[in-house]
Amino acid sequence: MEKCSFCGRDKREIRLLIAGASGHICDECVDQAYRISQEETHSKKKFELKKVKLLKPAEIKRFLEQYVIGQDNAKKIVSVAVYNHYKRLAQQNIYDDTEIEKSNIILVGETGTGKTLIARTIAKILQVPFTIVDATVLTEAGYVGEDVESLLTRLLQAADYNVALAERGIVFIDEIDKIARKGDNPSITRDVSGEGVQQGLLKLLEGSVVNVPPQGGRKHPEQKMIPVDTKNILFICGGAYEGIEKKIAQRLNTKIVGYGAGKKDTIADRNNLLQYIAPQDLRAYGMIPEIVGRLPVLTYLEPLDWDALRRILTEPKNAIIKQYIKLLEMDDIKIQFDEETYKYIVDKAIEFRLGARGLRAICETIMTDAMFDLPSSNIKDIIITVDYATEKLEKANIQRLKVV
Ligand code: ADP
Repeated sequence: MEKCSFCGRDKREIRLLIAGASGHICDECVDQAYRISQEETHSKKKFELKKVKLLKPAEIKRFLEQYVIGQDNAKKIVSVAVYNHYKRLAQQNIYDDTEIEKSNIILVGETGTGKTLIARTIAKILQVPFTIVDATVLTEAGYVGEDVESLLTRLLQAADYNVALAERGIVFIDEIDKIARKGDNPSITRDVSGEGVQQGLLKLLEGSVVNVPPQGGRKHPEQKMIPVDTKNILFICGGAYEGIEKKIAQRLNTKIVGYGAGKKDTIADRNNLLQYIAPQDLRAYGMIPEIVGRLPVLTYLEPLDWDALRRILTEPKNAIIKQYIKLLEMDDIKIQFDEETYKYIVDKAIEFRLGARGLRAICETIMTDAMFDLPSSNIKDIIITVDYATEKLEKANIQRLKVV
């Protein structure tokens, strides 16, 4: 009589017996084996999540410090938010009453102060998929731009189309201020478009299942969509919000008047009003209240002053100057810069209002000839003096670098 090789019962006692190469298995044992294998993979998954090394906020910040100069406040806030994001993901396996809510972040600061840099640096240590997307491509959505859902296409790509992984990822949305409603814009259609994009974005921020076009761009009927749940995706937004200081000043003034005029002086630093930024300023700027509400962590980046620019030139792990030294080292050439040269470069960046981005442009202009000639010369040691730098920059007509 044929028997199940696993439970030992014979053919009469069971419904179905499947024959194998050297034995048999009954349908009940198949079911049981299937359940065991499911449980096993499930607990393995849990284990994988635990295995992810949870960096403490202070450790995340220390890592950021190697690349980002200044911006202490923003670095701290982003470190905590990323840490909480991980904790939140870890909590998903434990059934608990207290649900940790998602804290999407918004970074406000002039262009070139390090918003994208912070996001990029965070991406280096993250163990979840990460992508940077630009909100400007969505500005004209409904006309020629991309659908809001396409923001998630990039995340899916970063996760190799593993939906479960993408659903725990982080998206950095750059230039979020460009989708603000423009109150004084004469074109009504554009106005609607800005608000329309915000409405679309809201769906993603608050967490819902969205159909994502796998190849991005516009949705079209033939394309097969991938449903993605955004509940656990962390969104970090960045925007310059040019002119928002006016809104802040207005709000602070009205408040001060309300509490008695004498307190006007309590605003310590009138030059950096951004430090007083509050959610209502974003609303006054043209963000819909629902979006502002879904970005509960609001922080600012300071304008970079002379000292910060000087440090950016040489201190970060991938500082521009360090890159030149390394590049020439590969040709066995030792290059040095005088301190006066650094000062000159920073002075020029400030004079021409080029900010941190300008440092690179200025350095490139000074260094082009050297980078071209040195590898095929016999020079093995070179010092870039301020005279050399001045000559190169003046010859190249530095005026063309000027921001108008
Ligand atoms: P944005 O705020 O417009 O996103 P970025 O982060 O793209 O500005 O900054 C542009 C470049 O300027 C960076 O790639 C980096 O080289 C330099 N930079 C800007 N801010 C900082 C900073 N705080 N520390 C170090 N480098 C910076």
